[in-house]
Amino acid sequence: MSDTLVNLRDIRFVLYEMLDVETLTKYDYFADYSRDTFDIVLDAAYKLAREVCWPSYAEMDRIGASFDAKTGKTSVPECMHRIWQAYKEGGWGGETAPVEVGGQQLPACVAAATSLMFNAANTSANMYVAGAGGAAGLILSFGSDALKKTYLEKLYGGEWGGTMCLTEPQAGSSLSDVKTTAVKASDGDHYLLTGTKCFISSGDQDLTDNIVHPVLARIPGSPPGVKGISLFIVPKYRVDDDGSVGEFNDVVTAGIEHKLGIRGNATATLNFGDSGKCRGWLLGEPNRGLTYMFQLMNHARIGTGLQATSLAANAYQHALQYTRERLQSRKISEKDPTSPQVPIIKHSDVRRMLLAQKATTEGMFALLAYAAYLGDKERCSPDETERLAATDILDVLTPVCKAYGSEASYESIVLAIQCYGGYGFSEEFPLAQMLRDCKVFPIYEGTNGIQAMDLLGRKVVMKNGVAFKAVLDEISKTVAEAAQIEPLKDMAGKVAAALEAVGDVTGHLAGIAMGGDIELYMSAATPYLRMFSRLIISWLLLWQATLAQKALEAGTGEKNFYQGKLGAARFYLGNELPQLHATAQILKNGERTALDFDEACF
Ligand SMILES: Cc1cc2nc3c(=O)[nH]c(=O)nc-3n(C[C@H](O)[C@H](O)[C@H](O)COP(=O)(O)OP(=O)(O)OC[C@H]3O[C@@H](n4cnc5c(N)ncnc54)[C@H](O)[C@@H]3O)c2cc1C
Repeated sequence: MSDTLVNLRDIRFVLYEMLDVETLTKYDYFADYSRDTFDIVLDAAYKLAREVCWPSYAEMDRIGASFDAKTGKTSVPECMHRIWQAYKEGGWGGETAPVEVGGQQLPACVAAATSLMFNAANTSANMYVAGAGGAAGLILSFGSDALKKTYLEKLYGGEWGGTMCLTEPQAGSSLSDVKTTAVKASDGDHYLLTGTKCFISSGDQDLTDNIVHPVLARIPGSPPGVKGISLFIVPKYRVDDDGSVGEFNDVVTAGIEHKLGIRGNATATLNFGDSGKCRGWLLGEPNRGLTYMFQLMNHARIGTGLQATSLAANAYQHALQYTRERLQSRKISEKDPTSPQVPIIKHSDVRRMLLAQKATTEGMFALLAYAAYLGDKERCSPDETERLAATDILDVLTPVCKAYGSEASYESIVLAIQCYGGYGFSEEFPLAQMLRDCKVFPIYEGTNGIQAMDLLGRKVVMKNGVAFKAVLDEISKTVAEAAQIEPLKDMAGKVAAALEAVGDVTGHLAGIAMGGDIELYMSAATPYLRMFSRLIISWLLLWQATLAQKALEAGTGEKNFYQGKLGAARFYLGNELPQLHATAQILKNGERTALDFDEACF
């Protein structure tokens, strides 16, 4: 077992040296914070993650959430009750929410660091807390005063749980096909809902007295497709006027999934209104439900990238410790078979695997913290130009956070298992569970295929390409700075060449779209996302290398840390980034086998 869950020094490097998050305290919303108080939050989060959440990681999986079909009751593992209590006592329910509704009013980028810790320690457990926070966030942004008064403090305070209910059996990726209906009641301010939602994370549990479900549904007569979907707040139990939990609201759990991973989190199928008594309260305006839900989903997509990266970061810490301790074989140059075996970290193939993990997890955390930091600017900057610029870049980067974050993290955990050899394949060690847990992240919050289509079909072209260009401009600035630093010139050149290749391919694909072959254009989505993601991670690692080089030149007591940053960047740019050029070539060749292949020939 590793002594550390995540690289704490790297977290502070990203927050304080790369993003300089202390500057956010100039915004009124964060004015009560300082670097010292951020550090107190980070230390407290790590203590909770390490001492309470992590010791129960295996138990959450082994026991898992369970459903009793006779009683209709869902139970979470016993350890989850202790974890929930600890989260509640620590006030971790609403890290970024305003203090007046029970939140901590933290910058999202600092919360990204605590999220990395909590998810590295026990991601199934953290999903219960995130579910409540997500439901509360929707009510905070779009709810009436009455809804806010009824729900916010209870959700942020850990009294009640929360979910997000989008998926239906016939409407997974295709939310325009949602069928759940909401009919205005004749005797009150509520609607009566009927329908089934499936795969609902934290959808039922025995942790809290009530569960608050934001539910997508159609009001009869609404337009077809996504423009006719509204959002409702549907509690499991109705709430009486005095705020106490009242009558059962006809939200019935039909069962929970038996899953490959994240087994401690109950993924439920919920039937709303089987007895015609399920009341829901409209959030915001009718037919704007998907727009509202997208606020939560965009946040959740960064959260999914964080979940995946946190598991990969923990797996990397394990692999690092293991390869330092495991003795096997001798150096190739050592001819004496009786000489002592060496730690496997001395073998170059093992170091290759470790470097790939280091570069991926550090590059991904940099991206996720940066995305959260843009979210802080978008939300809190008094300067409109700065807010709009942050929104543009964040919009383009969100599918990368989710899709590349989940895919690269999964591959990174595969490498961690490989470092362990046969022991990595054994459930005696935590890596097998990490791999199983990680597999859901390319699937939920919109599959990675859907993310890729979002990037190429929407984000690249939105605002006539202005947002996309804003990202490329940021990359150019970093390249220009690195090119001035002699030891970084070669790396700057590699990122500059990648930038050019991405621009070139984007123009080529735009030509295909303008020529009307939209099927061919969209068939490029997944390779395009991978290519673009490699550029993004290379950019952020180059940014980090620039800071590291400056620190080394200025003289630092942490030579190994900064040399490590340079090495991670050099490794990624030397080994991962070149794949971008192969993908670029494939896309420019107009590869279309998958598109044209006759189904009968499969
Ligand atoms: C553990 C778990 C937890 C979940 N939690 C929640 C939750 O809390 N709330 C919630 O609402 N949902 C939740 N989901 C549901 C999840 O969001 C969906 O599973 C996901 O959106 C995919 O939908 P689907 O399973 O119906 O797959 P499908 O939509 O059938 O997709 C199957 C495959 O087809 C591809 N595909 C589909 N349409 C297209 C297209 N137009 N073009 C190209 N490829 C396409 C997909 O990319 C995918 O590879 C959860 C799922 C799981 C497994």
